[in-house]
Amino acid sequence: MKSEIIAVGSELLTPYRQDTNSLYLTEKLNEIGVTVAFKTVTGDRRKDLVNAIRTALGRVDILILIGGLGPTEDDLTREAVAEALSLTLRRDATQVAALHARAAAWRITMPPNNLKQADVLEGATLLPNPNGSAPGQWLDVTFADYRKLVMLIPGPPHECRPLFDAECITRLREIVPARVIAKRTLKAAMIPESQADKLLAPIHTTYPDVETTILAHAGDIQLNLICVKSSQEAAEQRVDELASRVEEALEDWLYSSQGESLEQIVLYYLGLRQATLAVAESCTGGLIAQRITSVPGASRSFLGGAIVYSDALKAAFAGVPADLIAQHGAVSAEVAKSLAQGIRLRTGATLGLGVTGVAGPTGGSEAKPVGRVYIAVSDAQKNEALERTFRGDRTRIREWASQQALDLVRKRLM
Ligand code: AMP
Ligand code: MG
Repeated sequence: MKSEIIAVGSELLTPYRQDTNSLYLTEKLNEIGVTVAFKTVTGDRRKDLVNAIRTALGRVDILILIGGLGPTEDDLTREAVAEALSLTLRRDATQVAALHARAAAWRITMPPNNLKQADVLEGATLLPNPNGSAPGQWLDVTFADYRKLVMLIPGPPHECRPLFDAECITRLREIVPARVIAKRTLKAAMIPESQADKLLAPIHTTYPDVETTILAHAGDIQLNLICVKSSQEAAEQRVDELASRVEEALEDWLYSSQGESLEQIVLYYLGLRQATLAVAESCTGGLIAQRITSVPGASRSFLGGAIVYSDALKAAFAGVPADLIAQHGAVSAEVAKSLAQGIRLRTGATLGLGVTGVAGPTGGSEAKPVGRVYIAVSDAQKNEALERTFRGDRTRIREWASQQALDLVRKRLM
């Protein structure tokens, strides 16, 4: 069954607020086999809202409206649904009493406007909202001869989400034909996007029943595979089949076939090898350490490290000889290797990681342009540096550098 989510609120059409509720709802809907075919964001204008509702009812079976159930003048969702479906609104006495009780508990006098939260659409089932004053509403109606399910859900995320889980999902499960969904997330690091497309497009396009979406970000590619079938077995089988072909095609660019992050994988391999890691970061300024330590249990394999921005600290904390910096420059393969080895010896870690580069936007030169990064991994056997030149702004260059560094550690451990 197809659904549409309408997020209601003029603030959602400004640069300052985003409709995040629909992301949560989409995940829950997908889990029971309901696809979200459209998402609409409308401002708090009754006419626009009525239009959006009518359009939605013309193209989907399930319509979920989020927001606009509050007490203020601009909360118009109930009124708009009434108009679009030609339903009456009645003021519910129990709800009025509940609103009075709530106001009394808060020791406030209730403005008369608040009472519109007690307005119930003709034929609607009220959905209790333990976290707020406006209940949700559920309608099972006929629109232009078709059965339509319409839900009105409060906008504040801490009301919207639990109410949707407790009231809507359970009801939908009974109505929606039993469909199950199989999902897989595969991830690859540092593969050029054009290369990924060349490898993957011929494969996933031959699986039209598995929806494949590809997200790319700073050296990271995430493939989401989703398959909806009437039996779990059939869905899993299709996803597994496609996943193994993707795994094969991505070779060792692939670092995760169950959705783990690169830092999780690095820690996994460190644990497997009973190895430890320490870092000496210059241009990434602690980003690598931050990514690794965001994984619970990182302390088992990650010792720590140093942010060595100045030449003096490169010497003091990672033992980089001053003349090495004078000879090759702080941004050089030699210094990256010296950082990696220095921090390893300093900390007693199995592996040392050194990163130095020009994050920009200033500080570049002909020989060492903005984006140039040297990354080295040192262990007892070898110490090798990699030269890369990343494009983008300071943030992007630092993200790419941290990704490349973690990937280099992963490759060394594999
Ligand atoms: P409303 O129900 O329209 O009074 O919205 C109450 C609060 O919830 C406002 O602060 C909104 O910004 C927030 N809100 C409404 N809709 C959404 C949404 N779709 N995603 C995230 N926050 C929302
Ligand atoms: Mg609003």
